[in-house]
Amino acid sequence: MSAAAARLPDSPAAPPRPRTRPARRDAEDRLEALRWPRRGPVCPHCGSRHAYRMVCVRSGGVRFKCARCRKPFSARRGTVMERSNVDTATWLRVMALYLDDSGRGLPVRVQKLCGVSYKTAWSMVRRLDAAPDDPVLAALRRERGSAPAPAPGCASRPFHHRLP
Ligand SMILES: [Zn+2]
Repeated sequence: MSAAAARLPDSPAAPPRPRTRPARRDAEDRLEALRWPRRGPVCPHCGSRHAYRMVCVRSGGVRFKCARCRKPFSARRGTVMERSNVDTATWLRVMALYLDDSGRGLPVRVQKLCGVSYKTAWSMVRRLDAAPDDPVLAALRRERGSAPAPAPGCASRPFHHRLP
């Protein structure tokens, strides 16, 4: 690789672009696509598909306001992320780990890889265990084309398996 290519000065013809796009924005976009993959946001209050999108320029946070009932909502509503203080990017990372292997020891891996406390990691895994039909988890599962969701009524991780 040539040193010149790596050190090219900014071309004056380069299109102006925002100085920084908040990292959070990417996670919010991804969540939105997973939550409503086909036709965009649906108001959880009245079912309307007509909503205004409001983006916080500084934080990158995204909220919606229903054009019909005027109530606000977010893509986290109705998912395991609802009423959680953990940010969306971390939640999506934990969900990926969960789909890789939801076996015992997952909270420790989450703690190490996602930079949250053990208590937070444990409670996130518990939430996922309790919500096998979570829409975001289901969308991620579909995306991977992996095994179907656990059978209805089997809400918890199998604690019964033993090593040979
Ligand atoms: Zn509404």
